Amino acid sequence: ATPTAVMVATGKGASLGVLIKGGNALEKAHKIKTIIFDKTGTLTKGKPSVVQTKTFSKIPLLELCDLTASAEANSEHPLSKAIVEYTKKLREQYGSPSDHMMDSKDFEVHPGAGVSANVEGKLVLVGNKRLMQEFEAPMSSEVEEYMSEMEDLARTCVLVAIDRVICGALAVSDPLKPEAGRVISHLSSMGITSIMVTGDNWATAKSIAKQVGISTVFAEIDPVGKAEKTQGLAVAMVGDGVNDSPALAAADVGMAIGAGTDVAIEAADIVLMKSSLVDVITAIDLSRKTLAKIR
Ligand code: ADP
Ligand code: MG
Repeated sequence: ATPTAVMVATGKGASLGVLIKGGNALEKAHKIKTIIFDKTGTLTKGKPSVVQTKTFSKIPLLELCDLTASAEANSEHPLSKAIVEYTKKLREQYGSPSDHMMDSKDFEVHPGAGVSANVEGKLVLVGNKRLMQEFEAPMSSEVEEYMSEMEDLARTCVLVAIDRVICGALAVSDPLKPEAGRVISHLSSMGITSIMVTGDNWATAKSIAKQVGISTVFAEIDPVGKAEKTQGLAVAMVGDGVNDSPALAAADVGMAIGAGTDVAIEAADIVLMKSSLVDVITAIDLSRKTLAKIR
């Protein structure tokens, strides 16, 4: 496209809340045949909340949640925020101060798996099966059963281990963005195939994909794996998280959700300022129209 056409299109985009970072992004967007969507915070609202809890040992629920929230306190992950918030509410119900947090040391993020921290001398692990395996915390059949029960309900089951013993789980539900299904079917009518990738487990992933009408799913994928999935011709990636940034950078066109993390926004070629999935269509339309004009 000519510099003028690019300027007009990026200006139009900006007025619609679609930030296009230059002519290259605009040109590549019109060729897109496949769009890979991240699940959490992209297809879903990214505002998860704890909907059910379970303890697998005699540990009181409040103590379990206190340790969990203290381990998660330094994390920006939506799941962490949900857990901290739930714990605050729980403490209020028990008539305790809601801002109680225990001393936490050696906090570490394990991308696509969870967090670990030393809370008052105890090793607290909060995350999925992969995290538990990494730290050699054994999974009992009771834990396995509870997990799959929650996952079949499209919930993410967050496991909590204390000193490598899985003591409890928090089931988290993250509602779909209302426009998600509509956008996927519109993209299909434009000749674009939608795929979902997520670090979350297979059962939850499949259940979410079914709800939005996506038939190709890749679950339990780490950030590097997400980037590898974008390695094809004419592939766009839509994501919001730190864990999506390698994929956003690697894809032909990376589109970041405006409400997402700064790292994702920086890695992307296009930023959807309103965080609405409808603007994935807006961006491609704009690109197709701009490039059609100069043909
Ligand atoms: P997505 O790809 O869906 O955006 P992530 O890659 O961020 O998800 O996380 C994948 C999975 O790893 C989550 O579904 C969860 O099981 C686990 N996980 C990641 N971060 C955390 C955390 N801070 N606390 C608990 N679990 C986590
Ligand atoms: Mg995400």
